[in-house]
This record gives sequence, structure tokens and C-alpha cells, in this order.
Amino acid sequence: MPTLSVPLNQRGKQQRVFERPTTRGPAPLPVSNPTRSFWIDSAPDANPLAKEGSTGALTEDADICIIGSGITGVSTAYHLAKAVETDPSLGPLKVVIVEARDFCSGATGRNGGHLAPNPFFDFDDSTASFGLDEAKKGIAIEHYTVDEILKIVLAEGLEDAVDLVLGGRTNIFLTEQERQSALAAFNAAKDAGLDPSDVEWFSQEEVEKRYGASYPAVRHNGGNLWPLKLVTQFFNLAKKTPGFSLHLHTNTPVTAISSLESGASRRWSVNTPRGSVSCSYVLHASNGYASHLLPHLTGPEGIVPVRGQIIAVRADADADAITTSGWTGNDHLEYWFPRPLKADEQEKNPLVILGGGREVAQRPFEFDQADDSELNEDVGRVLRDFLPGVFPGKFEVGKEPEMEWTGIMGFTKIGDPFVGPVLNPDNPADNSYQGQFISAGYSGHGMPRAFACAEAVAGMIIAELGHKAWAPPAWLPVHYLTTNRTQGGVARA
Ligand SMILES: Cc1cc2nc3c(=O)[nH]c(=O)nc-3n(C[C@H](O)[C@H](O)[C@H](O)COP(=O)(O)OP(=O)(O)OC[C@H]3O[C@@H](n4cnc5c(N)ncnc54)[C@H](O)[C@@H]3O)c2cc1C
Repeated sequence: MPTLSVPLNQRGKQQRVFERPTTRGPAPLPVSNPTRSFWIDSAPDANPLAKEGSTGALTEDADICIIGSGITGVSTAYHLAKAVETDPSLGPLKVVIVEARDFCSGATGRNGGHLAPNPFFDFDDSTASFGLDEAKKGIAIEHYTVDEILKIVLAEGLEDAVDLVLGGRTNIFLTEQERQSALAAFNAAKDAGLDPSDVEWFSQEEVEKRYGASYPAVRHNGGNLWPLKLVTQFFNLAKKTPGFSLHLHTNTPVTAISSLESGASRRWSVNTPRGSVSCSYVLHASNGYASHLLPHLTGPEGIVPVRGQIIAVRADADADAITTSGWTGNDHLEYWFPRPLKADEQEKNPLVILGGGREVAQRPFEFDQADDSELNEDVGRVLRDFLPGVFPGKFEVGKEPEMEWTGIMGFTKIGDPFVGPVLNPDNPADNSYQGQFISAGYSGHGMPRAFACAEAVAGMIIAELGHKAWAPPAWLPVHYLTTNRTQGGVARA
């Protein structure tokens, strides 16, 4: 059995970090000199909106101001645009996205690029924590998200524009404990009437033959793509919607939000070093940095910034041997996938994007780390050794990655995001934050959830604008809703 570079069976230990008090206070603003990520910096044309609206006049008035230009913020703009397209009487609607750094340079521009719905993993744990209905919705929201994103990508013919590869995802069991916990979750999902029929179980021998790793695994539908390019396309689709005015101001950090005098035509002033935007609604789509503007979300009951690290390393075997599957684990934190080879790269071996390694960080799991200008050497070391350990002969021992970067995720104690109106922690019934909403804290698992959560918050804002009641969609776990959490942020059982 080859030697593995990471400690195993870690996921439970990760969530236990929430039992320790965090000490660093509210998250800072995003640093201005982040590491260079493959998605943002490997191709000169990857981020055409990078500096959009960073100079010139700031938009001073909007119906809705969205803070953050990652998948949550831009998807919300997309859903608002669709609502106006469906019901033109909602328009003209003025929306501004304000982004501290370059466009989409937070977690969405720095993640693993996976787009795969969870077919059943952790279903039993989720049932124990939140009840059967919520556990089912936890699976439903991921299928809904991925299906909707793929529908748009296919309908608009964007497969190449976003580098879509539907190679499935293989969940590899590095320990027997990991395999047993996946089986228990699978059986619980089946018993509950779910149909995880898109999964295929592989023995150790089958994985060895097919992929060259001597561990059992289970494979399910899903794929990977270039997240920044997807978000750019969502922005362009929203922007061209009639009756919908969308402005983007990058390199414009929001430093505070203050209420406007009663009698003013707008409720909130969103303040930046370049001036302020008056608006009626604010969406906090600021992920791991949310507590900077909402200090009551500081610490383990709120949203904790957690730093992830990724390398892009060239395989030592060709594309046929490496396959197009994405990979992850159930109880270890590593995830990886081979990038499709570009037309001028056909002679090369695939570049593999691999993240994880936080298990070995001195500050446990890189919790409460909001600085993505730095790399963690210990994490980098285990990432370099990981693939040669799992796939002997397919990755060269000691090979240096072509790129290495970090990014900041937003973790919550329950592993699920806060979605809905911002509430006053001291008195959730008062309306001191009226018009402010949040969708943040996906705990390192936002790609198959953020687009749908954005649809939910967009729906809440549209309902308020039309003086209508909002009802949660059937696929939304209602324990995500801020209105169903206690003041500290922990979901009610
Ligand atoms: C290294 C890494 C690996 C990951 N791997 C995966 C994965 O494999 N699968 C998966 O599902 N998820 C993964 N994730 C998580 C996923 O990327 C996130 O859940 C998702 O991108 C969150 O999107 P978002 O739009 O909410 O946040 P972000 O993309 O972080 O966007 C928030 C934006 O808000 C901006 N901002 C913050 N504060 C302010 C302010 N005060 N003023 C103005 N702008 C502000 C930030 O600059 C940032 O651009 C990973 C994340 C990282 C970092």
C-alpha cells in the first residue's frame, strides 16, 4: 500500500474546531494582493471584467446593492434580471454590484472547479441533525443547482466558454471507515425513498484497473468547469436583460453601511472609499468576509473565514490514463480533477487541480485565516506528495506545481449557509436591518448550492418589492434561513 501524505478520517475533527472560541474578531476586508490563481491568472483573457467600474464615477443610486461579485452575488443579479424579464412591471430595476478587489477574485475565482451534486453523502448525519425532510432538501438543492446551471450552459451554448467537462466524480475511500460511512449514508438515502441510481460502486481491484489507485470508490454524475468564466457569463446574461440596469464597480471595498434619514427615498447608504451608493436593498454576498460588515456574525456561531489551498500540477501520464473524472473523499479533505487539454496542449499530460491538505495546518484546518496573499508551506508539502501516493507512477514524486494559490471560504458550525434577511441578534423581531439580506457561509461547498440560494434571496427581494409573501421553494432546506436560526446562528433542531 503506498504512503499517503495526509492524516485520514478528518472531517468530523474539522467541525469540532467550532467548539473552540475564535480569537481574531470580525473578518478584515479582503487583502489587496491575493495569490495568483489558475482561474484568474493563467490566461490573459480569463477575467475580462477584472477591473470593470474601478475608475470613473461611482453609481450613486440603486434599488439593490450587492456586495461581492462571486457566484452568489452575480447569480443573484442573474435571478433578479430573470424576474424582470418574466414580469416587466418590476422594471426598470437598478442593481449595482460592488466588489472589493477584481471581479470574482474571492473563493469563486480560487476554488476547485467542481460542479457535482451530492447524491447521498452524509444523508444519515443530516437526518439526525435536521430531520428527514431537511436532509432530503439538502440533496434536492444540489441537484436543482447543478441541473439549472447546466440547463443555462447548454441552452446558451456555453459549454466551451466555461470549459465544461461532465466526467463524473469519483469518491475514493482511503480507509475502511470512510467506505462504511458512505455505505451507511447510501442505505439511509435509499430507505428514505431517494433514488441515488446514478452511482456506481467500484471495488479496490476495479479502481486499480480503471484509474491506477488501490482503493475502493463510488462514482456519481457531475463535472467540472471554470467557475470565473461561468460567473462572467451569468453577468453578461443579466446585463443584457431589457428593463434591468446592472452596474459593476470592482476594486471598491464596502467599508460600512449606514441607514439614511427617514423620509429619504432610499433606506441604506453603502459606503466605500470612492463614495457611497444609496439603495433600498443590500445583499451581503461577501462569504468568508461577511462579519466585517455584520460583526454579530463573528466567531463560531457566525461565519468563520477558512483558508483553502490549491496546486495545479502536471500529471506524469497521458489524458487516457488520467481520465476526465473529478475526485473527492468522504472523510478526507482532498479533491482534484484533470483539466481538459487545450488545442495546443494535446501532446502534454493533463494539468490536475488539487486542493485540500488543511488537516496538517498549525492553526487547525486553517480556521480563522482570512489572508489569501500567503501560502501555507505545510499544506503545500502534503499537497505535493498526495497524488504520487494515491496513484503510484502517474504523478512524479517531488514535482513542483505550475501554480499554487489560496482562497478564503466561509464556514458555519452546521456546515450550511445563512440565507435570508439580516436579523438583529439582540432582537430578531425588530427591523433595524430591514432591506438587508445575506447568502453566505457555504462551508467550502458553494458550487452546488450558491446559485439556488441566490435564487431564494432574489425571490425574497422581488416579493418585498411586489408587496407579496415569499414562500420557500420545495428544494430549499429551511434550516438555511436566517429566520429559522437562533440569534447566534445555530439552526434550531
Ligand atoms: C480553495 C478553495 C477551494 C474550494 N473548493 C470547492 C469545491 O471543490 N467545491 C465547492 O462546492 N466549493 C468549493 N469552494 C467553495 C466555493 O468556492 C464557495 O462556496 C463559493 O465560491 C462562494 O461564492 P460566494 O460568491 O458566496 O463567495 P466569494 O466567491 O468568496 O465572493 C465574495 C466576494 O465578496 C467580496 N467582498 C468581501 N467583502 C467585501 C466588502 N466589504 N466589499 C466589497 N466586496 C467584498 C470578495 O472580494 C469576494 O469577491 C472552495 C473555495 C476555496 C477558497
